[in-house]
Amino acid sequence: MPFRRVAAALAAAILLPAMAQGAGFAHSEHFIVFAPDLDLAKTVAANAEQYRTEIAAEWFGEAMKKGTARAIIQVSLSADYNSGVTAHADHPERDYQQVWIDGPREYVLGPLLRHELVHVLCASRFAGSPLPIWLEEGIAASYDHPASVARRRHAMAQGAASGDLPRASQIVALCGSHPIGAENYRAAASLAEHLFELGGGDRTRFLAFAVETRDLGAAKALARSYGLRSLGDLQQSWEAWCRDRARETEQVRAESVEQPVEPAPQRAPAAVTSPRAALPAMTVLTR
Ligand SMILES: [Zn+2]
Repeated sequence: MPFRRVAAALAAAILLPAMAQGAGFAHSEHFIVFAPDLDLAKTVAANAEQYRTEIAAEWFGEAMKKGTARAIIQVSLSADYNSGVTAHADHPERDYQQVWIDGPREYVLGPLLRHELVHVLCASRFAGSPLPIWLEEGIAASYDHPASVARRRHAMAQGAASGDLPRASQIVALCGSHPIGAENYRAAASLAEHLFELGGGDRTRFLAFAVETRDLGAAKALARSYGLRSLGDLQQSWEAWCRDRARETEQVRAESVEQPVEPAPQRAPAAVTSPRAALPAMTVLTR
């Protein structure tokens, strides 16, 4: 959709309220950004272009087509909280995804932006035939802040130690692209990280597994890609991996002095209120 059209469509829903709050506005080739100040908006737009290129190269081995994987990004700053939401375009004439990121400056410029851009790129790359949501979240979660990853590993290690780890069969059954909730998100990210490492950190292999899971189902894909004969094998392998991570995650947690920020996927970002209310029903992904 031409930028002029998008800007016009946004004026009533986003731009005017944003201007009223003194927000910054910037745009680049693929992104339109609203942020609390101009410098932040410009930096987010520049970073988004860079991450768009990097993520495509890292996971797809090629650049995204020019003019695809575009997004309108609404940025809010919070000192002790982080959250991101990507709403896939649900209309053929609306080719901009909607992204909301809310957190400390370091997070919105880096991990949160990268995470949500994975959803933007996947929405474009796999349009009409999306990857299973738990695997898409697994890819996105690989860009989470190290402190968030450490907290997640610690929680999963505790779950494994106490026998409270979720059932892998429930996680791989997650489908569609609806919000999956905080606990499922943590488990999906952990399970995906385990499989990623099981495959030697090979992104091509992991992505092929994701596509096979979508096309053939998890059981066949696990056998073909990772030699796991059943979901029971996956459960055992995952539990052992989580327990092994306990010691190293304690080390990372001890070294982390950052204040924030536990993802709280169910909270709607504050900035969402106006623009989101003005948009029709959309498919929403949350982290
Ligand atoms: Zn996500």
